[in-house]
Amino acid sequence: MYNEVDSHTHTVASGHAYSTLAENIAVAVEREIKLLAITDHGPAMPGAPHPWFFSNIRVVPRIINGVGVLRGVEANIMNNSGELDMNPDELRRLDIVLGGLHEPLFTPRNRATHTEAVIRTMASGQIDVFAHGGNPAFPIDADEVAKAAAEYRVLIEINNSSFTTSRAGSEPNCRALAEAVAVHGGQLTFGSDAHFAGHVGVFDQCVALVQSIGFPEERIISRRALGFLNFLISKNKHSDLSELSALFDSQ
Ligand SMILES: [Zn+2]
Ligand SMILES: [Zn+2]
Repeated sequence: MYNEVDSHTHTVASGHAYSTLAENIAVAVEREIKLLAITDHGPAMPGAPHPWFFSNIRVVPRIINGVGVLRGVEANIMNNSGELDMNPDELRRLDIVLGGLHEPLFTPRNRATHTEAVIRTMASGQIDVFAHGGNPAFPIDADEVAKAAAEYRVLIEINNSSFTTSRAGSEPNCRALAEAVAVHGGQLTFGSDAHFAGHVGVFDQCVALVQSIGFPEERIISRRALGFLNFLISKNKHSDLSELSALFDSQ
């Protein structure tokens, strides 16, 4: 299965990642990734960039060596009211916002609390993607989260690193979440969650998972760059994606 979009990558700016944007782009070119999202950690994560990193991200060209670049963030879900660690105006100016639960900022509690936090974040309209929802540190009700994702038009991420370098024990939870998305009519996206350039555009584990459950390919929105872009455009952001639309419309 060929996947044109990597919706989750980190650069040295995250403080615990090891490659530059230029190095990530070079690997994206090799792997024929057409749309690469830069999603460094939101400012509350220890070692993460200052908020100005995200406001100045407009200096990054839209297209580098033929790869479309999405200016984004992996924001932190801070509490079970669904608040993130950046204000809504700042988030709206970015192209893509991932939201995720991370132990340093959200002390793991119980299934009901995690589920509530995720659903309220989705309902707030601030995120496009719920990141690494299979993390066993944060059990959630897969059915309720998948239903909310379909209702609020939030993509559920299948995160390749959850099967390799991070969040050991994610696999059964990722499977349950993907199965629930299949039932409730939502969409998936694949993210490498690369913290090193060599992992950009690697989705072998994501592909194996969706194939093992027969997930409908047309609802994996990261498969096609234009479809992914149109999804983001439909979310009424304050960022201008027309240059990228023109790139993919002409292909
Ligand atoms: Zn994360
Ligand atoms: Zn990440």
